[in-house]
Parts: sequence; C-alpha cells; structure tokens
Amino acid sequence: MEPKFPQRVSIAHLPTPIEPLERLSKHLGGPEILIKRDDLTGLATGGNKTRKLEFLVAEALAQECDHLITTGAPQSNHCRQTAAAAARLGLGCALILRGEAPSQVNGNLLLDKLLGAHIYWTGDRDAGELIQEVSSELQSVGRKPYIIPLGGSNVVGATAYILAMQELVTQLKEENLNVDFIVFASSSGGTQAGLVLGAQLYGFQGQIFGISVDHPADGLRTQVAALATATATHLGLDSISVVDHVLVNDDYLGGGYAIVGDNEREAIHLVAQLEGILLDPVYTARAMGGLIDLIRWGAFTRGQTVLFWHTGGTASLPAFADKLL
Ligand SMILES: *Cc1c(COP(=O)(O)O)cnc(C)c1O
Repeated sequence: MEPKFPQRVSIAHLPTPIEPLERLSKHLGGPEILIKRDDLTGLATGGNKTRKLEFLVAEALAQECDHLITTGAPQSNHCRQTAAAAARLGLGCALILRGEAPSQVNGNLLLDKLLGAHIYWTGDRDAGELIQEVSSELQSVGRKPYIIPLGGSNVVGATAYILAMQELVTQLKEENLNVDFIVFASSSGGTQAGLVLGAQLYGFQGQIFGISVDHPADGLRTQVAALATATATHLGLDSISVVDHVLVNDDYLGGGYAIVGDNEREAIHLVAQLEGILLDPVYTARAMGGLIDLIRWGAFTRGQTVLFWHTGGTASLPAFADKLL
C-alpha cells in the first residue's frame, strides 16, 4: 500500500551521509558503529527538525500563511531551524521561548536573532496561551500565522521520518550494509514515530531504540505510539501497527532536561577526539552516552552493527561551554 505523502518543500540537504565510526568502535571493542549525519541537513547548522519542516512549511505555504509560530526551550534547535526555514522562504517567524531572557545571548538564541525571528519569553506563563496571544495579535494586523507544535511533532512533521527511513533503507542496500540497531535521542516523539512507521513500510528489520532525553519511558512510549498511529491514519496506512516496535530507554535522564552530567560530557569528548564529530550537550550526547554505556554493559555483540542517528543540535555547544570543560 503506497501512502499519500503530503506536499514538501525542498530545504534539506538529502540524503545525509552514513559514515563508519571506526576509531570509536575500536576504542569500545563492541559492535561496529555507523553514524547517520542528520546534523548535516542544512538550515543554519542542521538537525532533525529540518526534515520535519520540509512538510510543515509546505502546509503553511499551501494555506497561504505568512508567519511561522513555534515554541521550545531557550536553546531550542527546533526553534532555530524554524527561524531559518522562515527566512529561507520569506516568512515571518515568532518564537515563544520558555522562561526568562538569559543575560547572555549565544548558541541557538544568537542564531534565532541573526535569522530575524521575533522572540517572546513565557516567564511563568503557559506557552500555549502565549502562542494564541501572539497568533491573534498577528491576525489583528492582517497576517496569517501557521502554528507548529513543540518539536514539529505532529502527523505532518512525523511524516518526514517515514521518508528518512526509506532513505536509510535505500542507502543500506546501495552500500551493502546491514544494521541491527538504530539508536538516537527521542524527546517529542516525531522522529521515533516516523522511523517505526517507515521501518514497517520499507522493510527495515533492525530494532529502533529511542534513548529518552526528558520523559519516563512509559510516557514517551505512549506518546510515540499515539503519534505513529495518528500519522498512519493521516496517510491512509490504517493496516500498519507499530505498538510492539516502540522501544524506549529512560536510563539516561540524568539530572533532567539540558542538565549536563558526566554521561554527556564523556560522550562529547570521546566522539570529538576519536572521530572529529561534534555532538550536542542536550540530546545527542545523552543518547550517545547511553549507547556507550550499553556497549560497555555488553548489550550488543561484536558481530552486530549499531547505527547512531545524529539528530543535530551542535549550535547549542557555546551556551554550555562552562559545563563541558
Ligand atoms: C528535537 C531534537 C531531538 C528529538 O527529536 P523528537 O522528534 O522531538 O523526538 C533529538 N535531537 C536533537 C538535536 C533535537 O533538536
């Protein structure tokens, strides 16, 4: 059954490369590790939200919207990629960021401003409420805003990772590679929902392990399964069931969201110094730290291959400088 994929604008650099992490694999003495470079998708330092935005922005344009509104943490990669997508397509951009304006403007927040986004701080208010307020304000002056949810994780955004899985399956076939496990950072669930659906659709046989960044496993599993089911329905794929394939590990939540600990620090230093590849302190270092720990515990055998899906985020590194050294 061929799904009815929605419209897409071409803003990502695709396909992203797959590279072997030979020195890291050797250092750990476990499975072979490959990396899928979605940190190279473009859009002002790239990341997984760029794929989602290809579909979200296409829908905004189809609805003749002229502004994008979204929300996230002060160092949100999703917000920065949304600001870049808006700039690229000549749309306005309003970002509703959690908390208070920090005294230092750096990392993604600096890029948001350079990209021309208008920034609103929630203080202790509810982000959803402020989104509605900003949206009404824009409408009252004749603008047409398009609201993108947290992380771009709705049925439109998740669709992008179905096609990312198709991209991977094609690459594996072309490069004659086999992957037993995919490991990556999972948070708002759109990436994982798309990947598990894509695996069913395009016959990926390995296991897909989301390392939770900020939610207990039960909650994230439920969220991913619900989004995957809704996305399947949206695309006319009702016969696909994914519930048994949503695997979430929450052993690496550490001190909480965006709190950098030894797990993240070690992963960043190790991958930078063995491979010349940067991870971000909030998402990919947490997931890679988890993978390294699982390898040390013997969760994978030597003959197996693990693909680490790099979801981007390195723009936030400067904002965490004092926690990383
Ligand atoms: C948003 C984000 C994730 C999580 O993706 P979800 O689709 O929200 O689960 C992982 N890594 C990075 C760098 C991100 O910015």
